[in-house]
Amino acid sequence: MLKFQEAAKCVNGSTAVSTYPESLVARRYVLQQKLGSGSFGTVYLVSDKKAKQGEELKVLKEISVGQLNPNETVQANLEAQLLSKLDHPTIVKFHASFVEQDNFCIITEYCEGRDLDCKIQEYKEAGKIFTENQIIEWFIQLLLGVDYMHERRILHRDLKSKNIFLKSNLLKIGDFGVSRLLLGSCDLATTLTGTPHYMSPEVLKHQGYDTKSDIWSLACILYEMCCMNHAFTGSNFLSIVLKIVEGDTPTLPERYPRELNAIMESMLNKSPSLRPSALEILKIPYIDEQLQHLMCRYSEMTLEDKNLNCQKEAAHIINAMQKKIHLHTLRVLSEVQKMTPRERMRLRKLQASDEKAKKLKKIVEEKYEENNKRMQELRSRNFQQLSVDVLHDFNEPTSENLPESQPIPFLNLGELESSVEDTTADLGHQEIPEDPLVAEEYYADVFDSCSEESEEEKEGTMFSASEGEVKDEGPQPPYRTNQQDSDIEALARCLENVLGCTSLDTRTITSTVTDISPGPTVFNSVVAETKMKRMRESAIQKLGAEVFEEVYNYLKRARHQNASEVEIRECLEKVVPRASDCFEVDQLLYFEEQLLITMGIGPTLQNHH
Ligand code: ADP
Ligand code: MG
Repeated sequence: MLKFQEAAKCVNGSTAVSTYPESLVARRYVLQQKLGSGSFGTVYLVSDKKAKQGEELKVLKEISVGQLNPNETVQANLEAQLLSKLDHPTIVKFHASFVEQDNFCIITEYCEGRDLDCKIQEYKEAGKIFTENQIIEWFIQLLLGVDYMHERRILHRDLKSKNIFLKSNLLKIGDFGVSRLLLGSCDLATTLTGTPHYMSPEVLKHQGYDTKSDIWSLACILYEMCCMNHAFTGSNFLSIVLKIVEGDTPTLPERYPRELNAIMESMLNKSPSLRPSALEILKIPYIDEQLQHLMCRYSEMTLEDKNLNCQKEAAHIINAMQKKIHLHTLRVLSEVQKMTPRERMRLRKLQASDEKAKKLKKIVEEKYEENNKRMQELRSRNFQQLSVDVLHDFNEPTSENLPESQPIPFLNLGELESSVEDTTADLGHQEIPEDPLVAEEYYADVFDSCSEESEEEKEGTMFSASEGEVKDEGPQPPYRTNQQDSDIEALARCLENVLGCTSLDTRTITSTVTDISPGPTVFNSVVAETKMKRMRESAIQKLGAEVFEEVYNYLKRARHQNASEVEIRECLEKVVPRASDCFEVDQLLYFEEQLLITMGIGPTLQNHH
């Protein structure tokens, strides 16, 4: 199997966290580590300071787009807003986007299980394969995600195992709609985004991209999960292209059910209109049956989780009861004994901190007043400006999309005030009881909330209060311990939805359907340029500058002379160990050629055959 750049680019966990000082991106994201470089930019793991507890880890994608004019920024933000409204358990959540310096930044959900390509490589190296049940479960998850997006008329254009992520063994599709966001829905978008192994014949022949092209790529992924190899392989770019366009349809090994093979083959029909849609596949009796099994399993899982949650709640209650009983015993005890010097000291300390809290509260109140005044002043001054600031309007509903310029100090102080108020609410307005025993009880709650566990809880609610403004989280199920529970629950609901609809067109569309009208071609040229540059750099790094030049020039000539695959391989293997090492150079040449074609100054692919 070919092992080119992609396989080698598995998550790079070696970059030390300390490389990145505590710099805040967009006033809320702290860089944790670099996850890798993709076709468009660099990907980082970040911690979101404003996220709910346990949901801080997110992914930041930084895409160099150069200087944007306000129009482009508005367009990109509109598109991003549409994406951030989408919510499906098998789609990597698009949280937000913003422009920072020359970069367009995207914040998405983090999938700790890395991508499917890495998982496949890992299994391959260990000589393992996935179980049939696992493959079918994953395939159904992918179908559900693709169906959800296609129903909303959003194409992926770059479905590949590298864009599919694992999170608690659940597959999630990443980068859905991102190619359109970056390149619009032009022909170049697909050419530049797509990975040759997963590209459909119509795309390679420039006959347009539609939902069925995504279905083709999905079949390639199904093949890969079953066979641990690409469906279409070749030692160079053109040989792969030829196999896709003219070659036989691959089949699954005998060990897989005939039905599954038939589905895959139908998805790989050379004619897009003859391929089934994702929903049609979900309705095929064989898949429908598997769907019902899954439905039962997920329902059981969520029930178990709920039981587990009840147990946890019960444990909490028991814990609280025990604390109360312990307090009671203490009181009984102290009735007999006199107050110890240590206890007296503790009381004095409490009194002192109480005084401090009072002072702090006063300062905060003053600051709050001051800022309020400033804000009113600013408001009246900026009133006319705001009414024409379209961008600000777009960003208003989701604070995540706020432009990164003006800090809003009064907001932070407001938060500070309420948190100070929380801890001093009772203390500030009442006198401290003289009786040390009463005082002990008086402070009991405060001490309780200072224990490590409750400290976290407190912080968690504070974050969630501020994240309350961010409307990127959907309604939460009542018992929710972690992301996976809710994902499984959501998935069960999706299955229910699919199982519940008997005819293909009676399905109810729950959320707004977005339109696939020609999207913005915002960053086209800069993104294309960056992509080529990255590709060239990566190839040079792999081959060395000299060999790269030699291979590049040779392949360019060979392509124009329609040299045979054998001939090309022989020549290449004089300069590199394996011809497949030059895959990237081949791909680069192809992209350069496509760019020229798109600009109307180049031969079409067919001329080479
Ligand atoms: P590509 O162009 O190959 O799709 P990306 O830019 O999407 O690459 O991603 C680059 C690297 O970051 C990859 O190694 C990928 O596995 C990792 N990555 C991207 N998105 C996520 C995510 N949501 N969670 C975890 N890792 C991610
Ligand atoms: Mg990706």
